[in-house]
Parts: sequence; structure tokens; C-alpha cells
Amino acid sequence: MKLIEVVKSHNRWRRFECINLIASENVMSPLAESAYLTDMMHRYAEGRPGKRYYQGTKFVDIVELMVSELLSTLLNVNFVEPRPVSGTIANATVFRVLGDPGDRALIAPVQAGAHVSHTKFGTLGALGIEHVEMPFDRDVWNIDVDKAKKMIYEMKPKFVTLGASVYLFPHPTKDIVDAAHEVGAFVVHDVAHVLGLIVGKRWPNPIHEGADVCTSSTHKTFPGPQGGVIFTNDNELYKSISRVIFPWFISNHHLHRLPALAVTAIEMKYFGEDYADQIVRNAKAFAESLSSEGFEVLAENMGFTKSHMIVVDVTKLGGGSKVADELESANIIVNKNLLPWDPPDAVKNPSGIRLGTQEMTRYGAVESDFKEIARFMRELLVERKDVREIRKKVMEFRSNFNEVKYAFKVGHDLMESIKASLTL
Ligand SMILES: *Cc1c(COP(=O)(O)O)cnc(C)c1O
Repeated sequence: MKLIEVVKSHNRWRRFECINLIASENVMSPLAESAYLTDMMHRYAEGRPGKRYYQGTKFVDIVELMVSELLSTLLNVNFVEPRPVSGTIANATVFRVLGDPGDRALIAPVQAGAHVSHTKFGTLGALGIEHVEMPFDRDVWNIDVDKAKKMIYEMKPKFVTLGASVYLFPHPTKDIVDAAHEVGAFVVHDVAHVLGLIVGKRWPNPIHEGADVCTSSTHKTFPGPQGGVIFTNDNELYKSISRVIFPWFISNHHLHRLPALAVTAIEMKYFGEDYADQIVRNAKAFAESLSSEGFEVLAENMGFTKSHMIVVDVTKLGGGSKVADELESANIIVNKNLLPWDPPDAVKNPSGIRLGTQEMTRYGAVESDFKEIARFMRELLVERKDVREIRKKVMEFRSNFNEVKYAFKVGHDLMESIKASLTL
């Protein structure tokens, strides 16, 4: 296959023919996409706006300041650092600011879906910071608060991380913050998955619950370009973060992200609450539909989920690996996932799959559409109908969802919206 054919095939398949349920992905709006393709992708701007090491950045500086201002308005926080090129780099920066090699951190349980960057296998390990996991309470599908507080008092960690990649219910930020602050520990809350829900006011903002600093990516429920961000109300912390990110973890920060991030922030100001609301409703409806189609959806006792995400135990259907492959053959894209009772070495064939509603919601899908997706899954995985038949139905279904909703139409006067947003 010629290169261009490969790329075209990818675009056609993933953009127009698949139901994408990967919980960590999304698509930008047409306006944000057009703002992504600019000459800024070719330029360098080491340092901070107004204090660059390179010439030629006067317009980049304006955009970068605008991004910080828009995000700090949207999130109602004082300081935003938009330079991390990914969520992992945001974490690396904050972890390095708060801990030296040999220090100890307390992290959200890996069983509860803590991200690899919070562990010794990822960024924390690379920084030489030791970690202990807070215990997980399967009755409430969350951190066991009492045991976690006891660990904080005994261990006196340098910092505690909250937030996760399997994130059905908000972590108990206030309780953990109170205990951590008593022993002088900082609390970092990683909201990579739920940033869009926070902006849309369907998930608590950890900074307003006392967390010292938040890290995030900008491309999951928040439908911006791939990248990262850090925000805080603590001026000293913000200054340290700015000194550490450059030159320790980035030199250039992929400038073409910035205009697209600004457009997404403005669109989320206008459409974010409706979007987040529908994402969460859809996740709940999807879980209920799957459950009534006979699937074992986790956390039924807690109402399945409060986020964009649901987790299904597919042990009886052959395990996460087999099921994810079968769904892919029918153009339904999901990822296999460890469940809280899986041993860590089950990563190759864990017992679960993780599903997110944010991308199909962005294309306008509502509760009844997710009911239909649940039916496709039943016909394929339970009734064992022919995969070609299901794939055909999936493609037909998907052809109704080709326009990104919760976004401005191309041609919208963006400058007017920017002005309106900044004078809020
Ligand atoms: C996705 C994710 C990240 C990493 O973000 P990248 O931009 O992929 O580096 C960090 N933390 C959590 C909790 C995540 O889910």
C-alpha cells in the first residue's frame, strides 16, 4: 500500500466507519482543527511569553497568554501552565517539583486505575520517587478513605496523587487533602480523563476542594489537541512549575497546539455544560442498556458511573483481549482493561473492557443511540451473529454521525467570541 493510501484508509475507517468508545480519545471541532494547521507547527519558542530565547515569537506569545487566560477563566483558578506537551509531561513536572529522588509518594490504587505515570513503572519510577498505594474499597469502587488517611498519618509522604484512568466516581479529595495537609504533604490531582466534565460542571474541580495542583491532558473529555496542562491557585508552586518544566522536561512546546487549545476553550465556554451533561447521561444509559442486554457492568450497586466511562467484566465472554479484538472486527473500538481483582500480570488478557461515551456524544449521539450500540454488542458477543452483518449495521449507524456538535460552525467570528470570553 502506498503511504497516502494507508493514511487515507486510517482516516476513512476511524473517522467515518467506526464507533469509537476509547475513553481517552476525542475529536477536535472543525474550527479547532483548522487552527491546528498553522505555521506555528514549524517554530520554536523556548521560555515564557515575553522572555523567549528565540526571535519571531510575538504572535505566539499573544496566543499562549490567551490560552492561559481562557483556561483560568473556565476553570476558575489563578494560574495555568499550558506548556506540557502531554499529560505525562505535566505529571513529570509536578512530581519533580514536589519530590526528590528517594522521597515517598502515596498514590491512588493501581487497581482503581491509577495511570502508569503515577507508578514505579512510569514517571515516578524514572524520577526515583518511591510509592505506596492507597487501598481500594470494592464496595464503593473508590479509595478506602479511612485506611488511606491512616497511611498518610503514618507515612508522611511528600505528596499524594489522586485521579485515575479508570475513573467512575470522583475521588474523596477533601478528606485526603485534610489529612495530607496535616502532615505537610501536597495533593496532586490528575484530571486527564475528566477535564471536560469539570469545565462542563459535571465533575468537582479538585482545586476548589483544596487540592494543591491539578495535572491533565487536553484531549479526552476536553476535546482539544493532544497535549497537557497544569493548574493551581498556589503562586509559589506555579513559579516552581514554570522553572522546572523548561528546561527540564521540554524545550519547545509544540506551538501549533496553542491556537487549537484556545478555540476548544472558547467552544467549551459556550457548549461545555450541555456537552458534559449529555456525556454523563449517555454513560449511565449505556451502562443500563448493556446491563439489561446481559453484560456484567461494574459498579451496579453505585449506579454504574458518574463519569464518561463504564467498565464491563467480560470474563465469561473470553476475556478483555478476545472481546476487544472481536469488537474491532465489527468496527467497534474499545480497549481491554484490568479489573480491580485481576493480578497485575494479567495486562495481556485482563478481565475487562473500558468504554467511553465522549466521542460519540460529540457527534450528537444520545441515550437511545447508546441503547442501539449495546444491542450491536449483544448480537455480536452473546448471540454470536455473523461479524460481517454487525459491521454493516455499525457502519450504517455511524453514517448518521458525521458532524461535530457542541462547536461553532466554520466561518464563525472567533475574535468576537474571544473578546466576549475574556471580558467575563
Ligand atoms: C491519559 C492519562 C495521562 C497521560 O496523558 P498523555 O497526554 O497520554 O501523556 C495521565 N494521567 C491520567 C490519569 C491519564 O488517564
